[in-house]
Amino acid sequence: MKPSLMDFTQKELMGMIKPAFRVKQIFGWLYHQYAQNFDDMKNIPKSMKEELSQKFVVNPLTIVNKEESTDGTIKYLLQMQDGKTMEAVWLKMKETQLDSNGEVIQEAKYTICVSTQVGCKVGCTFCLTAKGGFTRDLTAGEIVAQVVTLKRDNNHKHNRKINIVYMGMGEPLDNLDNVAQAIKIFKEEEGLAIGGKRQTVSTSGLSTKIDKLGEMDLGVHIAISLHAVDDELRSELIPMNKAHNINSIIEAVKRFPIDTRKRVMFEYLVIKGKNDDLGSAKKLVKLLADIKAKVNLIYFNPYPGTDYDRPSRADMVAFQEYLIKHGLLCTIRDSKGIDISAACGQLKEKTEQEI
Ligand code: SAH
Ligand code: SF4
Repeated sequence: MKPSLMDFTQKELMGMIKPAFRVKQIFGWLYHQYAQNFDDMKNIPKSMKEELSQKFVVNPLTIVNKEESTDGTIKYLLQMQDGKTMEAVWLKMKETQLDSNGEVIQEAKYTICVSTQVGCKVGCTFCLTAKGGFTRDLTAGEIVAQVVTLKRDNNHKHNRKINIVYMGMGEPLDNLDNVAQAIKIFKEEEGLAIGGKRQTVSTSGLSTKIDKLGEMDLGVHIAISLHAVDDELRSELIPMNKAHNINSIIEAVKRFPIDTRKRVMFEYLVIKGKNDDLGSAKKLVKLLADIKAKVNLIYFNPYPGTDYDRPSRADMVAFQEYLIKHGLLCTIRDSKGIDISAACGQLKEKTEQEI
């Protein structure tokens, strides 16, 4: 596998490619024009492109499957240079609003959900990605290229704002070096210019790595996949909890540098008969008492072969109301793209069965 130009910051590329103004032009081709290959780079001399193509690829990803939901969610299956595949999702968060003259007063807002690994080592019992085991880490360029590829495919101009959530396949903090490099490349002013505030790293709770990410001071948000309020159930759902228990996660979150106006998001996957009772809600309120937190309740999304069930809407709402009544901000994640194999890993699984 050749490295991609998207593996590097602008400064790093300037250390490898001369003169510097060419690197600036190339950066524009990568992140403003979404070039797919060297042929696309019109103002770069042919000899230079030939030389560069010996060492680098431009976009290391190709789209192999795409499923579009009626709510605007588009799920992509992307293939890498070694033939391995992973998913990225284009999520529509808000509709475009027009005034009476048909002028845009608010543009549609989008979020891109990126993968960080092929498979995952954490092995959560409810997660389809975990079923296939772990294959490999994604490179920084493969993470960056997911955003470039999806923006390009949706004709989303480089200067239109976008949010990134590291919530696709894999555990981002288990591939921290490449994830941190991707965060820096996204932030590049002359690239996509996506600030830390617009990037949220979701983790199943590798507490020591939460500290490491905090020390890097990249200005990103974190989301903690908590899912349970006692270690017994959490260790059943997330085997790694034995090494990184709930208490160690809560302590790491308290040390994490966040904008004091912001809240740390806790994701709570609700599974029928496991963690959907008000006793759990009560413990959750206690657990998060000293943290500026918000809770996002997620319906468990069933797939063939799973032992778990989706909770009822009534239990979900009762859980939410309890949290709100006791002072926690709480939302229920609407199951975006529920009609298109929504939960992580499900499109990959489906496509591989069809092939
Ligand atoms: N590894 C990281 C990020 C990727 S998983 C983490 O665990 O946080 C992203 C989210 O998908 C997690 O919150 C996870 O709980 C959720 N998820 C996994 N399987 C699911 C399923 N079957 N139904 C609904 N959400 C699921
Ligand atoms: Fe890995 Fe996250 Fe799936 Fe757990 S939920 S197996 S950490 S991807």
